[in-house]
Amino acid sequence: MSQGNIIIIGAGVLGLSTAIQLSRSGHKVTLIARDLPGDSTIDYASPWAGAHFQPSPAKTPAEQLEQQLMQETYRELDAIAQNHPEAGVAFIPAVEYFDSADPDSFLSKENGYINWPDFSIIDKTQYPPNHDIQMAVTYRSWVLNSPVYLLWLQKLAKELGVVIIRSQLTALEDAVPIFRHASDNHVGHISAVIDASGRGFNDPDSYPSRGQFVIVENEFDMTVSHHWADGSSTVVVPRPFGGGTVVGGTKEPGNWSEEISDSDTEMILKRVKNICPGIVGQDPAKENVLGFQIRQVYVARRPMRRGGLRLEQDVVGIQSPGDGRRVPLIHCYGAGQSGYKISWGVAKRVESLIADLK
Ligand SMILES: Cc1cc2nc3c(=O)[nH]c(=O)nc-3n(C[C@H](O)[C@H](O)[C@H](O)COP(=O)(O)OP(=O)(O)OC[C@H]3O[C@@H](n4cnc5c(N)ncnc54)[C@H](O)[C@@H]3O)c2cc1C
Repeated sequence: MSQGNIIIIGAGVLGLSTAIQLSRSGHKVTLIARDLPGDSTIDYASPWAGAHFQPSPAKTPAEQLEQQLMQETYRELDAIAQNHPEAGVAFIPAVEYFDSADPDSFLSKENGYINWPDFSIIDKTQYPPNHDIQMAVTYRSWVLNSPVYLLWLQKLAKELGVVIIRSQLTALEDAVPIFRHASDNHVGHISAVIDASGRGFNDPDSYPSRGQFVIVENEFDMTVSHHWADGSSTVVVPRPFGGGTVVGGTKEPGNWSEEISDSDTEMILKRVKNICPGIVGQDPAKENVLGFQIRQVYVARRPMRRGGLRLEQDVVGIQSPGDGRRVPLIHCYGAGQSGYKISWGVAKRVESLIADLK
């Protein structure tokens, strides 16, 4: 197909990574978004993420696709960490503790953690005391300072010629007149619109998962995740570039509350201190709450979707206001708790979907 204009709705990690991928392959890209890097609103998930890499077992076809997307992203972030230290990405060891564990998730080559670099099972003698841990593993993970990384992505996108417009759409169709107005109508045809708006437009399967997290000044040199038997998790995610350490957190599907819960903050800090005692006591003069020096407590919303990530061409497309033309529409939203982990893999899949457009 001819390389016309592509409009991306959304400047989260998916929209920006996709904009860069498409520009690199020669497309003219315009990105329209309500929130841009530097903003911090509750429905803009990307700046709130830790963010870190954590594998997941890949047994179903959907999980196997996610595993591929994670591997492609892992390789891309490895290259970014080596070549662009200013992007705020680093590779450090990860430790995960499981109170109930399915050894098959770890030990089978097809679906397990075992494929990730530097994987090994941690000996029981090294478990933290006073826990019901059944299994523990370590591997090489990446961490990134999400606000820094988003600004770096935006800068790279602009250098590649991506036009960025701040605007809130009430419907997907609004993208076309906003694009035409901004370019003074001196434009060629629009090849496609990509919906990377986080939860999509009026998708009944989309919903938020509330997460309360804390950023502390206390430093740590690895990521730690503790998976409790009741399904909850405690995570410790160091943010490179002076970003402190993100600790948390809660997972509350369907909870729209923006209020901070003090009891959840206390629960998070106690759990982190128990699983990771070395994180406190580094600078007692400054540590003010349970041995932590708190920088920020926040609530954010993960963009969940029943059925998982929607990554496909729409069967109908959108109708261009004015000339009534059908413009192909590609859905790219509903990344849930994994948007960073799959971002570059998703961007490459969108590029293939664009290439396949008739
Ligand atoms: C606390 C927390 C911790 C997390 N930790 C991790 C982690 O460690 N690893 C990981 O991989 N993932 C993590 N995630 C998940 C990850 O942050 C998300 O999956 C990812 O940010 C989603 O990116 P996105 O680009 O799809 O959406 P978003 O970042 O939400 O961006 C959506 C974009 O669409 C725009 N938009 C929406 N509606 C409109 C409209 N009507 N008009 C115009 N623009 C619109 C928004 O303004 C924004 O620019 C975490 C999430 C949270 C909240």
